[in-house]
Amino acid sequence: MKAGLLTIGNELLSGFTVNTNASWIGLKLGKIGIEITVHHTIQDNKSKIIFELEKLSEMASTVIVTGGLGPTHDDVTASAFYSYFEDSPIFDENYWNDLTDRFSKINYKIPDMNRNQAMKPEKGEVIQNELGSARGLYFKKGGCHFFALPGVPKEMKAMLNNSVIPILKNQVTNPLITRTIRTTGIPESALAEKINKNINIHHSQCSVAFLPKLTGVDIRLFCRDIKIIQDMEENLTPVIEKYVYGYDDVSLEEVVGNRLSELGLTLATAESCTGGLLGHRITGVSGSSNYYLGGIISYNNEAKMELLGVKKKTLETFGAVSEETVREMAQGVQSLFKSDLGISISGIAGPTGGTPEKPVGLIYIGLSFGKEVAVKKFNFFHDRDSNKRISSQVALNMIRLALKNE
Ligand code: ATP
Ligand code: MG
Repeated sequence: MKAGLLTIGNELLSGFTVNTNASWIGLKLGKIGIEITVHHTIQDNKSKIIFELEKLSEMASTVIVTGGLGPTHDDVTASAFYSYFEDSPIFDENYWNDLTDRFSKINYKIPDMNRNQAMKPEKGEVIQNELGSARGLYFKKGGCHFFALPGVPKEMKAMLNNSVIPILKNQVTNPLITRTIRTTGIPESALAEKINKNINIHHSQCSVAFLPKLTGVDIRLFCRDIKIIQDMEENLTPVIEKYVYGYDDVSLEEVVGNRLSELGLTLATAESCTGGLLGHRITGVSGSSNYYLGGIISYNNEAKMELLGVKKKTLETFGAVSEETVREMAQGVQSLFKSDLGISISGIAGPTGGTPEKPVGLIYIGLSFGKEVAVKKFNFFHDRDSNKRISSQVALNMIRLALKNE
């Protein structure tokens, strides 16, 4: 089943607002087997909206519109819908009373401007909005389903989940199934080389897409037959097993957290150039207090010595960004927190601070596990933010690999 998406808002075109609704709706519909085949973004302009409703419905059997349902003069989506469906909306006294009540509960007198949000269609239906004042609209015309939802992401998401998805789910026959194999630690081309032979086995029935990101490559399989997807996954995974950390939406920090929980092990972090990013990612997982004991952001040399016990001599001889320092940081944080594992990161995130011997992007990561310490050296080549992000990913992956065969 194909869907068309129309996102409305001058702020989306000018770049003031990132169009997060579009990607969220794409993912959400994809999960129930509906493909967004066309997506247009236009200004808050009534005649343009009407033009797009017609155009998108020629290309798809569902049209989802977001934005422009508010009470202000620039919100013209409802009025475009009424014109396009030749509807004569009526004033909904009950909803108006309800809105008046909601406003008075927060000590506001409801502005007259909100009256237009109490209109309801004759030929279509309203979609309830529990989180805001703008109700959505649902019309059917010539076999196509049209939905208008507010632009505010939180409201749009709740309404799509509660009202739109249940309607659309019933319409989908033979859905396209997606499975994502998530990998890290191997570039796209090397990954492709490893699995190319196995892809060819099925590739006429199952499409395969490589989606490289800074932190890893996702392999996405699309097929209408679940059995083929399962076969494909079984064929592919063994050849790239070392790099696969999970499937679909799972994050590396969740995988690492689950494994630590399973094994009953604890972790502490010592971060320099990542400034707490690793700790932030680990604590982004609910329940992380079961295995994460804490961390130290030891940004300067004094902090490394005083908080983690890194020796002055080590810093003087090898420098803060070195195998030796990172080794002592990992052991230091492990003994400070009495954790089973201690992980440490020190590097030159850039863009300044590089030297010919220690260029920007040079990062050392240490992992102390029991009495063993492993240190790895990396030469990344990104900007500051990306160097920090990739370092946190590599650190998590080192933990994952260390725990794999425990
Ligand atoms: P309101 O009642 O708030 O006016 P609305 O349905 O009229 O709701 P808009 O005015 O278009 O929606 O947008 C409301 C808010 O939602 C704005 O902050 C806007 O930047 C944001 N928003 C709108 N469309 C999107 C989108 N596609 N992605 C992310 N945010 C969006
Ligand atoms: Mg608005």
